[in-house]
Amino acid sequence: MSLTVVGSMAFDDIETPFGKSGRIVGGSATYIAWAASNFVKPINQVSVIGGDFPKEELDALGAKGVAFDGVQVKKDEKSFYWAGKYHMDMNTRDTLTTELNVLGEFQPVIPDSYQGSEFLILGNLTPQVQMSVIKQMKTRPKLIVMDTMNFWMEVALDDLKKVLKEVDVLLVNDAEARQLTGEVSLVKAARTILTTMGPKYLIIKKGEHGALLFHENHVFFAPALPLEEVFDPTGAGDTFAGGFIGHLAKTKDISFENMKTAIIVGSAMASFCVERFGVSRMREITHEDISNRLEQFVQLVNFDIDLI
Ligand code: AMP
Repeated sequence: MSLTVVGSMAFDDIETPFGKSGRIVGGSATYIAWAASNFVKPINQVSVIGGDFPKEELDALGAKGVAFDGVQVKKDEKSFYWAGKYHMDMNTRDTLTTELNVLGEFQPVIPDSYQGSEFLILGNLTPQVQMSVIKQMKTRPKLIVMDTMNFWMEVALDDLKKVLKEVDVLLVNDAEARQLTGEVSLVKAARTILTTMGPKYLIIKKGEHGALLFHENHVFFAPALPLEEVFDPTGAGDTFAGGFIGHLAKTKDISFENMKTAIIVGSAMASFCVERFGVSRMREITHEDISNRLEQFVQLVNFDIDLI
């Protein structure tokens, strides 16, 4: 069972009310790979980096079963760079800088070794690159999951809508669901996306307020773990996505019932990510940490009730 991951591999500069990260490794595909590699191998990474991207990070991901045949290295250029600043609530942030650098001209090439991947996740990056990857897969993956963000809705909405037509699951946050549809109600936004835009499943992430999974007329809610301290929410959405698809790829079951479990797994993985800056917490967690955290989720929502 293999999983192909497309997305940015980047440098980030993050400012939260607790401090500044300085220049650290980030990127949507980096977070997805760290999360998903706890569940499935190999992870077929598709991205582009500059000569400045640390070899040590590639080695650490490689040791977790991540393959880099689809990662282009532009030796004399700079990696994608993103800087953001969180507000006091830690749920909302402003993008301070987006420097596309190598991502600007990126034309992905899917190596033969990645063909036949049954799961594909299109992490946040240019919709045109996401589309190119779908078109290059000789056999359509069993499940295509797409993440995106407001930035692409602002600069490439038409391309983004074309990719939406090709995917099974869309992941967005609440503000993005509203922006995409013009609906204030998330239930109406979900209906519009599911009935007119392409995806058959929709996940709306609500930061510290959990995530909603919509499919046909069904809706399921996964809470976020109430944490005493959220240190840095960057990458929580990507880590959630990595846990979600990692669980589906591991179990090879893409039913709505199993997607419910998958969003709990995604929430558990995201709860680790936010405990430190960047991917540092993701680097150290063990299978035991993950199962203990999943148990906390079970306890969080477990209750008895006598129906009247
Ligand atoms: P998240 O907090 O889950 O939204 O993901 C944050 C990560 O997305 C950071 O590590 C950034 O490097 C990356 N990122 C931010 N903006 C973009 C963009 N426009 N395209 C691709 N990746 C991005």
